[in-house]
Order: sequence, then C-alpha cells, then structure tokens
Amino acid sequence: MSINIAIDGPSGAGKSSISKKVAALLGFIYVDTGALYRAVAYHVISKEIPPKNESAVIQELPKIKPELRFIDGSQHVFLNGADVSEKIRTPEISMGASDVSAIPAVRDFLFELQRSIARENNVIMDGRDIGTVVLPNADLKIYLTASAEERARRRHLELTEKGDKSSFDEVLADVNKRDYNDMNRKTAPLKQADDAVLADTTKLDFDEAVDLILKISGEVLGVRNEV
Ligand code: C5P
Repeated sequence: MSINIAIDGPSGAGKSSISKKVAALLGFIYVDTGALYRAVAYHVISKEIPPKNESAVIQELPKIKPELRFIDGSQHVFLNGADVSEKIRTPEISMGASDVSAIPAVRDFLFELQRSIARENNVIMDGRDIGTVVLPNADLKIYLTASAEERARRRHLELTEKGDKSSFDEVLADVNKRDYNDMNRKTAPLKQADDAVLADTTKLDFDEAVDLILKISGEVLGVRNEV
C-alpha cells in the first residue's frame, strides 16, 4: 500500500518548494497537480481560446493529453508529448489555470490521472482539493498557508529573479484574485479538510517550514527522516 500525503493551500504558500524538499527527504514522489491545470490553460491560450470560455475549453479537452513524468526524481509536465514544464510558469498561465480549474469538466478530466499516480507511489501531492476530493483517504492531510502579503512578497521575489517586471501590487492583486477564484468556485473550492493539520508559514523561513512538515509527518505517520 502506498503512503499518500495531501498538501493543500492557497497559491504562494510555499507548497511546492516545501513539498519537494520534504518528498526528497522521505524518498517520496512529489506531485504538483497545479501543473496539470496550467498545462490545460497553456494549451487553450496557445490556441487563443479564452480560459473562461467554458464550452470552447471543454471542446478542446479530447485534444489534450497531459502527462506527468518523473525524471531523476523531479516532475516534468508533458503536453501532447512536449515538455512544457517551464512554459507554464508565467502570470498569464497562472490566471488561466485558475480560470480553467473552475470548469467541472476540466477537474473530472484530470481526476483519474492524479488518483492513479497516488495509487502506485508514495506521494506528497499538492494542490487545492487533494485532501478534500482527490485523495479523501490520504494518510496525512496538511493545509499549508501564509498571509496574502507574505505570499505576494515571496512570489514577487521569485518573478523578479526570473526577469518578470510585475510590481508587488500587481502580484498581490493576482494573489487575492486567485484566492477568491479558488475559494469561491462551485466545484472543489479550496478549503481546509476537516481532518487536515493547519500549518501557517507566514513567520517561518524555508528550513523552518520544512522542519514543521517533517515533524507533522513523523508524528502522524511515523515516517522517519533518514537524513
Ligand atoms: O498550484 P498552482 O499555482 O500551480 O495552481 C494553478 C491553479 O490551478 C490554481 O490557482 C488553482 O486554481 C488550480 N488548481 C486547482 N486544483 C489543484 C491544483 C491547482 O484548482 N489541485
């Protein structure tokens, strides 16, 4: 039986970097489910289809084959055979992913892919609805969050390092808009599962956040950090 750790929370809470590190320390596979929604957004935006245009997006789904491949322990996202892992990391695709993720047919389309990876591997899977919908029987559920300002500060730093010129205020507005979209959509809205452990990283640096998640994992699962 595989061990499944579900990590949900708003964008910019550090889910991916923290989960990646914890997964490496535990010898688990880290699965970033947001990348799948980003791949769908990337496909429709490339075809000049507005991500909010529900019927046009649904029509495209049969033409989309997203895949997650794990190369040297790290996740790569493939779209119809091409590696799009880097191309999906732009503010435009972030917002597009948030839009397509509100379409129930898109969520259904990506559901089984996520489930099958978790069935076959020890995973730390991060997203918005992992503990609530995708893996309701996960061995451990963590809701990882931080204040909107702190999340925007971190995301702004990351984007600036990549050469993106967005201002802090623009990034904060994006964070707030995505939070609103993710928490208020009808299907699988972002919320803390009843049985999830809350981890707030507002005042923690990266190493402290990793330690916190390792501690929770150890307490709940008895998973030992071998490093
Ligand atoms: O995690 P990331 O920021 O890459 O996710 C992009 C978008 O995909 C999120 O804003 C969210 O709307 C959507 N998403 C989702 N459910 C997941 C993962 C991501 O709705 N499990």
